[in-house]
Amino acid sequence: MGKAEIGLIGLGVMGSNLALNIAENGHKIAVFNRTTARVGTFFESAGALQPRIVPCTTLAELAEAIRPPRPIIIMVPAGKPVDEQIAMLRDVLSPGDIVIDGGNANFHDTVRRFSELGNSGLTFIGMGVSGGEEGARHGPSIMVGATPEAYARVEPILTAISAKFEGEPCVALLGPDGAGHFVKTIHNGIEYADMQMIAEIYGVMRDGLGMSPDEMAGVFAEWNKGRLNSYLIEIAATVLAAQDRQTGRPIVEVIIDRAGQKGTGKWSAIEAQTLGVSATAIEAAVSARILSSLKDERLAAEQAYGSGGLPKFEGRRDVVLRDLELALFAGKIAAYAQGFAVMAAASKEYHWNLPLPTIAKIWRAGCIIRSQFLGTLAEAFEAGGELANLLMAPAFIEMMKETHPSLRRIVARTAEAGLPMPALSSALSYFDLYRQGRGTSNLIQAQRDFFGAHGFERNDGKGAFHGPWTQSG
Ligand code: NDP
Repeated sequence: MGKAEIGLIGLGVMGSNLALNIAENGHKIAVFNRTTARVGTFFESAGALQPRIVPCTTLAELAEAIRPPRPIIIMVPAGKPVDEQIAMLRDVLSPGDIVIDGGNANFHDTVRRFSELGNSGLTFIGMGVSGGEEGARHGPSIMVGATPEAYARVEPILTAISAKFEGEPCVALLGPDGAGHFVKTIHNGIEYADMQMIAEIYGVMRDGLGMSPDEMAGVFAEWNKGRLNSYLIEIAATVLAAQDRQTGRPIVEVIIDRAGQKGTGKWSAIEAQTLGVSATAIEAAVSARILSSLKDERLAAEQAYGSGGLPKFEGRRDVVLRDLELALFAGKIAAYAQGFAVMAAASKEYHWNLPLPTIAKIWRAGCIIRSQFLGTLAEAFEAGGELANLLMAPAFIEMMKETHPSLRRIVARTAEAGLPMPALSSALSYFDLYRQGRGTSNLIQAQRDFFGAHGFERNDGKGAFHGPWTQSG
């Protein structure tokens, strides 16, 4: 075998698994890691794949080992480490070589790097990878932002290593520069909303219905056979059924209720706001993680306000569970409608021409939010015509009509019982605002005009007007 087809820097969780995946799919790969001892450990662990792996202990060695033009994947933490790594790579690369950032970059950084590297004759690819450790090893969903020429050089490798949904590879060139990382960011934003809504439903089962983790695991496993079928519902069942090795108790009961975050949820919310798109379920999910981190404050607040005194969450368990299933489905529709609306707006703003049906398709396997639902969503976008919002797709109108009464009942009942529903209640409010032909912003406009002479439009004539409270009114 001659030179390596591709290189990879950063043999952490994602990098090492991607490298093994690439080797397993028949492509020779050269690898490097900042802490060079890790290169040796990785090589030893590669077993039968060793002949397709070239371990390198310097960047010069890495460059030498790859066939030009050299594609090199950087799989290190987003931000400064990526810039540092690129700066070091510049010394060993030649014009035409392709630097690929496979981490969770902020797309603004990707756009900057794309133009900076372009100026020095190198090519840059921003590549979002989803699916965690398992996906990286056996088939992730890959979202690429690149020039068609650069993509052509790596397409055979990315196609081979990607997840497959009924034979279709879950990888696509989505647009230039930051398009891939933007889509990955919104993927994660939707993932935040999906996970928060599942956690809210878990809260109702635990605190409203008094169900045990084992019972809840059974319900999620059952739901996974129906319209909610998805990786996140599947693993909800799995983790709820798991026991702690140390205590023998259900593991969820020993885990502290403080959720971590690395930034992609927050970036989704920021980009939605910047683009002027309402993404309330995603924003609520990010806020809920922030509040979750305030464990001590929450404990003190529970002391101050007490946790009792509110009406109990009552009702026949099977009836409530049916409502919970449909409520979660309705919330999911609203959250995905928001995420796709953000991508549609970004596509216009940055002239990316994002292929929304393709995005839904490459999320059907390999990634964390993979689900049956995404197939229906792809069909809705493929049906053609300018779809203002997923909520206006005929199939989704039908599904929302069927499920929103359950969401409404659950949000109302949990509000009375004091069970928090930040994402699901935001999803409901979004839906109610979206479908309200006559809203209440006329009052806001009147007030804005009153205190700031901002003017308003009338429903009986064109132009800008002022109210009777101003001199010009
Ligand atoms: P890990 O923490 O497992 O590994 C980090 C790797 O980056 C190590 O090889 C480390 O080298 C290297 N590194 C850290 N800092 C620097 C630096 N300043 N310069 C050079 N190398 C550095 O991270 P992950 O593999 O989990 O994540 C990598 C990227 O993939 C991140 O952007 C992450 O957000 C993204 N990602 C992660 C997913 C996951 O599920 N974990 C899923 C999808 C994307 P050393 O051994 O020397 O410390």
